[in-house]
Amino acid sequence: MLNLILFGAPGSGKGTQAETLVKHYNLYHISTGDMFRYEMNNSTELGLRAKSYMEKGELVPDQVTIDMLRSRVIANPNVDGFIFDGFPRTIPQAQALDALLKDLGQSITKLVSLAVPEEEIVTRILNRGKDSGRPDDNDESIIRKRINVYTSQTSQVFDYYKGFGKSVEIDGVGTLPEVFNRLCLVIDKEVAKNVKKK
Ligand code: AMP
Repeated sequence: MLNLILFGAPGSGKGTQAETLVKHYNLYHISTGDMFRYEMNNSTELGLRAKSYMEKGELVPDQVTIDMLRSRVIANPNVDGFIFDGFPRTIPQAQALDALLKDLGQSITKLVSLAVPEEEIVTRILNRGKDSGRPDDNDESIIRKRINVYTSQTSQVFDYYKGFGKSVEIDGVGTLPEVFNRLCLVIDKEVAKNVKKK
């Protein structure tokens, strides 16, 4: 199995690249942001709870997020691997993910982080906001808040997996195919290692 964490600030291109990667490597895409938006659009209890955090650019509490993620992973036992997009965003989330995968006899293969400068991120998200329909994409102060949350709470997850020799950063600036090719260079090495192990 190939279990990848696609990492990076909001607007770094994780969702877009994940869509192409899942097809290329036959993986299952889990985006906690998409899951929360689905719940919100259906006005479920979980969605209403998440909404109050999302509209302020804050993180939804760990336990709520971890429980939602766990049920999605468990519901998909027969996949070739997962791409986690937007999760984990805190150290407790990372520890919970590791524990969950361990219970399933699995582990994280690699965390790949997309590096994009802050000003480019703000421009990208404001552009995306023109047709994404996401209220948190239209307000520059909320975008900056999300970037601050990323720097203060989420970026530590990179170091957490670096401690296990699993974190890699690549340049996230460029065309979609350029960034995709950089990702494939990293992932193909892991695929080759998996094939050797078998
Ligand atoms: P995203 O689409 O990944 O940028 O997520 C949009 C919003 O959903 C974030 O700003 C958070 O409010 C919430 N969210 C998504 N994933 C998580 C997570 N792993 N932990 C906490 N909050 C999350």
